[in-house]
Amino acid sequence: MLNVLFSAKPAAWDEYQAPLTKALSDAGLEANLSCEMPSADVDYIVLAPNGPVSDFAPYVKTKAVLNLWAGVESIVHNKTLTQPLARMVDNGLTRGMVEWVVGHVLRHHLGMDAHILGQDGEWRTPYPPLAADRPVTILGLGELGLACSQALVTLGFPVTGWSRNPKSVAGVRCLYGDAGLDQSLSDAQIVVLLLPDTPATHNVLNTERLALMARGAFVVNPGRGPLIDDNALLAALDSGQLTHATLDVFRVEPLPGEHPFWAHPRVTVTPHIASTTRPDTASQIIAENIQRCESGLPLLHLVDRAAGY
Ligand code: NAP
Repeated sequence: MLNVLFSAKPAAWDEYQAPLTKALSDAGLEANLSCEMPSADVDYIVLAPNGPVSDFAPYVKTKAVLNLWAGVESIVHNKTLTQPLARMVDNGLTRGMVEWVVGHVLRHHLGMDAHILGQDGEWRTPYPPLAADRPVTILGLGELGLACSQALVTLGFPVTGWSRNPKSVAGVRCLYGDAGLDQSLSDAQIVVLLLPDTPATHNVLNTERLALMARGAFVVNPGRGPLIDDNALLAALDSGQLTHATLDVFRVEPLPGEHPFWAHPRVTVTPHIASTTRPDTASQIIAENIQRCESGLPLLHLVDRAAGY
């Protein structure tokens, strides 16, 4: 019998208890799944980083920590976490992100605000350009960036993707590393950020890089708040270098009421809702990973502790 500790907020337990119990059983695993058990007995921890476990030292026989979130920045540098850490890659999370990104890219591409917000009797006739004339850059070509880039390519956008390592993706101009960053931003009209929060990605969009984008460009950030220098973004909006920023993530969340993003007429704030892990599909991934570990296979989606994601 495996002991699986579920460490998250109580509301998450209500969502996950049934699907995770089912997924473990469907995977042929005999498991005792609970929110509470003696730490020395725990074989696996299913973890939300905002849950009760933050000291992993007492979990002496724990074989793996399975994160419920895609982002691991709040635990990857925890010195007590010596057990292998897997991050969440969940098809439901990915599909949700694709829908959110495509929706916000199309809003800006088509200039929807002019018609939705501007019902003032003026007959505004300029046609939006076709997607083929709107270069989009996606910073981060991982699980989420790749899926979003493919959806945008299908709609006809010329897509450039940027990653740490070289990649080859059909229909996407792939650039990588420090050398590829400036090139990927040059003349981009819409930039979507889907990078993890690591020391190497902080302020990736700063004053100099915002200036490389096409004048009047759009920024869409469902990645993480520290990817953007907030003051540089505000200055770029005020100067007209950027037309609009849609931001789902922030350095401090919830975004404090006095933050200038709330009141800025050309910033859209969404409250970190771009996508979320879906209990049914995520439970299957967790069960599969436990099954793999029990069979001596490598864990899926193992976090690279040195790289921080
Ligand atoms: P992932 O699969 O780990 O992909 C990360 C991508 O970023 C990879 O392409 C990676 O390059 C690239 N990258 C990392 N460090 C880099 C660097 N220094 N320079 C250039 N590229 C770098 O992660 P994911 O599942 O796509 O998720 C991405 C992020 O989305 C998460 O970390 C999280 O912060 C955010 N997220 C937000 C929400 C929301 O609701 N707002 C929901 C889920 C996730 P390589 O491919 O070369 O490794």
